[in-house]
Amino acid sequence: MTSIPCPHCEQKTFNWWHKYRTGKWGILRCSQCTGRVCAQPIVLAVLYFAYVWDVVLFGYLAYLDSLWYLLVMLVGWLILDYFSVYIPLTPLRSPSGAALSDKQPSDPKQDS
Ligand SMILES: [Zn+2]
Repeated sequence: MTSIPCPHCEQKTFNWWHKYRTGKWGILRCSQCTGRVCAQPIVLAVLYFAYVWDVVLFGYLAYLDSLWYLLVMLVGWLILDYFSVYIPLTPLRSPSGAALSDKQPSDPKQDS
């Protein structure tokens, strides 16, 4: 079941599992237009700062005080995973540098 539109062609070609994978720095390829798509990298960097903060803070508290903080760390991790699904998708340029949605790929045999 696909419900999330591709930022290149606006066709609904991605599902929530794809969206979860972009939250783990995954790069997707649209099945309609073959455009590459990832999550907004700046938002993702902020989220990963929060992941590091979660592990360092509650790991340190678990070391100092009580192992129950490991459970708090796990809950915080799951909450951050939940938010990672809602990071907006952004189009990546094709390897040649041009956006795939702007022009059709040319056939190199026709040039010469
Ligand atoms: Zn597409």
